[in-house]
Amino acid sequence: MEEKDAAPSRRGIFKAGMAAAAGGIALAQQAKSPARKFRGWVSRGSGPGRTTLQELTLRPIAGRQVVVRTEATNLCYSNAPFVLGLPGPGGGPLQQMALIQGHGGVGVVEAVGPDVRRVQPGDRVCVSGTPQCGSCYQCLRGRADMCQFLGRQGPGDLVPIADMRDGTPVYANSHIGGLAEYMVTFEEWVVPVFTKATAAELGMVCSCVSVAGLGATTSQGLAVVAPGSIVAVVGCGPLGLSAIQGARIAGASTIIAVDPIRARRDVALKVGATHVLDPNVNGDKLVDNVRALSNGPNNRLWAGGRDSGGLLGGAGADFVVEGVGADHAKPKLEAGPDPTGILPLRQAYEMCAPGGHIVTTSLPRGNISLPAVLFTIGGRTHHAGQAGGASPMRDIPRFVEMLDKGQYNASALATTVIPIERMLEAYEEVLYRTTVTAIMTA
Ligand SMILES: [Zn+2]
Ligand SMILES: [Zn+2]
Repeated sequence: MEEKDAAPSRRGIFKAGMAAAAGGIALAQQAKSPARKFRGWVSRGSGPGRTTLQELTLRPIAGRQVVVRTEATNLCYSNAPFVLGLPGPGGGPLQQMALIQGHGGVGVVEAVGPDVRRVQPGDRVCVSGTPQCGSCYQCLRGRADMCQFLGRQGPGDLVPIADMRDGTPVYANSHIGGLAEYMVTFEEWVVPVFTKATAAELGMVCSCVSVAGLGATTSQGLAVVAPGSIVAVVGCGPLGLSAIQGARIAGASTIIAVDPIRARRDVALKVGATHVLDPNVNGDKLVDNVRALSNGPNNRLWAGGRDSGGLLGGAGADFVVEGVGADHAKPKLEAGPDPTGILPLRQAYEMCAPGGHIVTTSLPRGNISLPAVLFTIGGRTHHAGQAGGASPMRDIPRFVEMLDKGQYNASALATTVIPIERMLEAYEEVLYRTTVTAIMTA
């Protein structure tokens, strides 16, 4: 009785399949070669030296596992503290496990477990930061960005995918482990893509940040940017710069980009922004300035116009994408007005027009307070935009098509492209924001 009522073990989701395939399928058998050796950046312990390049031996796979030969992976800012061993809360079992960081990548499928249907060896795939099983409660309700497999990445869920020379088992962070020559993941995380794009450009458009930016603006998941509308993008990292491109592709007429870093504002103009604002210069006036830019030519209220007067303020952006987040270190280029990311988040909310939509995508630190009347009756619809609401299997192939047809400029965002050996120095550029983002090719 007790056993019957017990909730299925989280561990079981990934481990049952492994045990079921007695002994697993030796990759060596499939590939007709000895157990595969590869290089991977392994993080363990604390401090700046916690991530080292190691020679690893792949373990046999089973069930729904997929082995992908890595072509490229984006060095996501959110992973910087774990890769570079920055001081922080840390701790916990994950810190002591030998873990390959990197929650995304692109590559070619080398082997699949016996239960895999979605991809075949030889397929080019995006290993998506957001899984999509297609059959959980959220996936069935059109919210694949909230697929319940996303929460199955704790220390008890991970399975060893390789061994170090001394026999230490190695795990893949997020079931992905993009900072290595091979990724061992599960079927739920892979999306086949059919393209001849270069590794670096494909790695860029398939990264968690590009998917979130393009998802927020061009997927049907949350809200849709209407042609001719006014869009504000707060934060012009790779996510915001992807949102700017998505807004342009969707046909927005005015795209206002906000970022403290001049080089990033320059890229914003290059990829589709019509106006740029520096939050350090605009200060308290930032919201008013966005409202002024969105006043439009018509303020005749009997004739479809709007103005910025009144209790709730009539003007503002029809659609706001927020992608700032907290600093993990003080930027070496221009720092923004608030290292926690809370102030830009509040400004993003306030610059949205009544009746408009705001999609938030960042990882800020702390709690937010908002003008209560705007929040309760201000007419702004807030979307908590994990992956920008993108549905990986539906949307990632579409994003790749945008790259292939010249609608999406990946190279303007991938401002650092480096081979695997130079991963750590490129991550420092990402941390200090001296590059827009870095793509590691393997
Ligand atoms: Zn990420
Ligand atoms: Zn799901």
